[in-house]
Amino acid sequence: MRKPIIAGNWKMHKTIAEATGLAAELAAAAAALDDVEVIVAPPFTALAGVVGALPADSALRVAAQNCYCEDKGAFTGEIAPSMLVDAGCSHVILGHSERRKIFGENDALINRKVHAALAAGLNVILCIGETLEEREQERMYDVLKTQVSEGLKGLAGEQLARVVIAYEPVWAIGTGRTATSDQAEEAHSFVRGLVGGLFGQSEAEAMRILYGGSVKPENIDGLMARENIDGALVGGASLQAEDFIRIMNFAR
Ligand code: 13P
Repeated sequence: MRKPIIAGNWKMHKTIAEATGLAAELAAAAAALDDVEVIVAPPFTALAGVVGALPADSALRVAAQNCYCEDKGAFTGEIAPSMLVDAGCSHVILGHSERRKIFGENDALINRKVHAALAAGLNVILCIGETLEEREQERMYDVLKTQVSEGLKGLAGEQLARVVIAYEPVWAIGTGRTATSDQAEEAHSFVRGLVGGLFGQSEAEAMRILYGGSVKPENIDGLMARENIDGALVGGASLQAEDFIRIMNFAR
């Protein structure tokens, strides 16, 4: 049985005070749930503050939204995976479509980041997903195949157990246009098959695959009911406690 994950990507939102307040509220709600992992990804500036505001045994885990692939050195403006561990993070989101599109990250760089993050002891949430153009040109499966095989290239089985995949169709991010649960299930099942082909059946069965793209209180239950959807990576609806708490309490 795969334990579901509900993760909130706060993107470039929230002051330190706002972030610590929201995290404390979410931690209290997460403490009541033992059948779901709840993760929040505040901006870098708020990471240490959020971790510091949580009880030592908090059920809420903290992720960063990105990191670099080197552990130290002259990389102005970058953050090392070990710095995230030092700040108290357990996870890092890598390969988000906004990093790919706005900041030009390619699969090779993302793969280096995946290796560096795992080596530092972090768990990785690897984002993949096709654009609308790629879907309309029926290139979706090729794109997903490349992103999965290149993103996970060179990983050993033990490392794979610390990776979660987030399928986020770019056309559904921030647009209010969620993939239907059929569309999401189809992509997730395809991705699980890819992991199986690359690493083996039991690794594929164990892999958590999250859906991201306009997840809201109104659509979470339908998504979570599907066999291959193991959780959600939530953007906009993770910025308010009420919505995110409803999402982590999805029907089950
Ligand atoms: P929205 O939930 O705002 O569509 O964002 C999804 C996302 O990009 C999460 O990483």
